[in-house]
Amino acid sequence: MVLAGRVRGVTGWAFRLVGYWVLASARFTMSDETYDVAIIGAGPAGAVAAHCLAKNGHRVLLLDRAVFPRSTACSGWVSAHVPAMLKDVGIESAKMFDQPFSDVVIHSADFSKAAKPTFESPPGYLVDRAAFDGALVKCAVASGAAFQPETEIARIHLGESSATLTSREGRAFESRLLALASGRMSPLAESIGFPSLSGGSRWVATASAEGKQVKGPKVPRVAIVLGLDGASSFGFVRLYKDHVSVDVAWDGDKADATRALIGLCKALTGRKLIPVDLLDSAVKAEPMRSTAAAAIDMDTHVCKHTLLIGEAGGFVSAVSNEGIYPAIWSATIAAEVLEDALSSQHSQDALIAFNSAWRMKMAEHLRSPHTDVRFLLPLVFSNQPMANRMAAAFFFGDNI
Ligand SMILES: Cc1cc2nc3c(=O)[nH]c(=O)nc-3n(C[C@H](O)[C@H](O)[C@H](O)COP(=O)(O)OP(=O)(O)OC[C@H]3O[C@@H](n4cnc5c(N)ncnc54)[C@H](O)[C@@H]3O)c2cc1C
Repeated sequence: MVLAGRVRGVTGWAFRLVGYWVLASARFTMSDETYDVAIIGAGPAGAVAAHCLAKNGHRVLLLDRAVFPRSTACSGWVSAHVPAMLKDVGIESAKMFDQPFSDVVIHSADFSKAAKPTFESPPGYLVDRAAFDGALVKCAVASGAAFQPETEIARIHLGESSATLTSREGRAFESRLLALASGRMSPLAESIGFPSLSGGSRWVATASAEGKQVKGPKVPRVAIVLGLDGASSFGFVRLYKDHVSVDVAWDGDKADATRALIGLCKALTGRKLIPVDLLDSAVKAEPMRSTAAAAIDMDTHVCKHTLLIGEAGGFVSAVSNEGIYPAIWSATIAAEVLEDALSSQHSQDALIAFNSAWRMKMAEHLRSPHTDVRFLLPLVFSNQPMANRMAAAFFFGDNI
């Protein structure tokens, strides 16, 4: 009897220990929630992908490490393609844009020549970037996506039938498929085998001022300064009411990007083309690497259960450094592919279709003009149709 009781006691303890172990390990291996698609990054790419999938009834989780609305480096313009593309996916965007702009001047690098392209309708809109991105996230949520801000994903595990995401705080989320929209230079993309995009040689540096002292024009004005390095490097100037910003997109060394920005700001102030001196801001500017057109050189944007979209996948226009429109475009294509994959028995085969789908539609838009810009520059200032074509290449990604 005593022996039998001891055996029962030992067995009971053994069962309890196994129980504790199962519970303890479940805390680390079981996810808090399970979704059809998880999307990491709630910038324009992630938010639009989330909206497209959620409105069609899929269980979508949109995660971002930031608190929204969040600010991000941006010159604050989008091309006129954007409202039409958002409308196509059911997003009414009229209130998301500040002002359309048509007053565009193209300058030569030494400001000795200028051309004024003409447009049938405004080529773009100014945007308040934090408000714009915030509005897209609201659309995704209104369509039914679950939004989880302040959640930084530290680790992705791609299992046999699903992806498990673990946040820095140890929360786990599980989804059948994954869209990685984590933006510029994403270490997460590298952690699951995508190549590093940190080797590109374009740098973007910005100087800006905001406030009553600016006294900018009542109608937005944009200037593009071509050939800063005699070739593809350019400056972008944006003036409107109480805001002025000057960007340099520099193809070359990082330090030269700052020097080019300082030189450009001095030249603009000297010629009274900007209403405030931006020298201090230019000196302090920290150039950021751009992934302009890097998508074209990537072998694949697909890995197990996963698509890489937006700037994380190098979807940025080479000519203008515009990233919002390509991010949204890649997201709409990805959403269609992800939907196909969700309803397919061979989801991985369905995902692979993303590579050819985006290339067919977007590659021409992203790449640099086929012609060497150096030979085009003199023509832009002597020939109105060439000025118009240069502007169309810049704002719409048309070939020259
Ligand atoms: C100086 C500068 C000026 C620019 N100006 C313009 C412009 O005027 N117009 C234009 O069209 N483009 C501009 N661009 C490019 C444009 O800003 C980007 O291409 C665009 O933001 C890409 O959108 P996205 O959704 O792919 O990524 P992002 O907008 O960068 O969003 C990525 C999101 O992922 C989140 N994230 C990253 N890692 C994690 C993680 N581990 N866990 C959770 N969340 C994570 C980030 O918090 C971020 O919110 C500019 C770029 C630069 C550098």
